[in-house]
Amino acid sequence: MRPFHEQIRLVGATGGPTKQPVWVRWLGTAGFSLRADDHVVLFDPYLTRASLGRCLRGDLRSDAAVVTRHVGRADAVVVGHTHFDHVLDVPLVARTTRATVFGSTSAAVLCRADGVPPSQVVDVEGALRKGTFVTEVGPFRLEFFPSAHSRLLLGRVPVAGEIADCDAVPTTVTGYRCGAVFAVEVTVFGRTFFHLGSAELVEESVPKRSVDTLFFTVAGWTSSREIPERVVRHLSPRQVVLGHWDDFFRPLAEPVHALPALSLPRLRDRFHAAAPSVSVGTLPFLEEVPL
Ligand SMILES: [Zn+2]
Repeated sequence: MRPFHEQIRLVGATGGPTKQPVWVRWLGTAGFSLRADDHVVLFDPYLTRASLGRCLRGDLRSDAAVVTRHVGRADAVVVGHTHFDHVLDVPLVARTTRATVFGSTSAAVLCRADGVPPSQVVDVEGALRKGTFVTEVGPFRLEFFPSAHSRLLLGRVPVAGEIADCDAVPTTVTGYRCGAVFAVEVTVFGRTFFHLGSAELVEESVPKRSVDTLFFTVAGWTSSREIPERVVRHLSPRQVVLGHWDDFFRPLAEPVHALPALSLPRLRDRFHAAAPSVSVGTLPFLEEVPL
């Protein structure tokens, strides 16, 4: 039997492109690429997918060959938080594409330490202290909201804290501290996408809305109370694209494998019970599709 994540592919069920297509590519983990009018925005691109052995040895480094093979143009890179499986490749992507990085103070510190020109780095956390943060990248409008990380490690956020001192770029999992967490709304060509890079939502910081496509992080969902129901109530998504359910210790070259502990069938059932009309599913790995 085909694996569940293939049975619930959204492609073909979305109605395909309208007049001006927005092309979406799932990069594995919480990584997504959105392309419209030849402008590209990346979310949490993590392509290196270091093996478990390398993570345990503290030998984390971007794989330049893999990253350049899979990332061509990028105009902006959004960092939802600074765990290694979200940010490791961001400095390399920024240096090679000259994209602007939008992220927390931790993300900014990391990028500058890793050779990204300061003019390419926007500290959204600092900006949000003064109010809202909205920016435009080509046809994209991006709005950032303070968010939270799921408490997936015995009720706690794993590797919490800030990347504060970055004289040397971290090579250990624990060096990549979480930093501030953001939820990001993207509006382009009359459609709304919403990226939740961790399975948590801070309702007080996001005015209630209706989005077309929600990129939902599966990892940690069972640790966040009623998260499918809360997300449906607050964001009213038309479709939910599931991300970060894959075993990211396997390299990009291998077929994608779901982590069984993440209970994809149960999660989909919960979304459907909360909103029977919502489409919930996955995208093909690394393949650009119109949404
Ligand atoms: Zn994380």
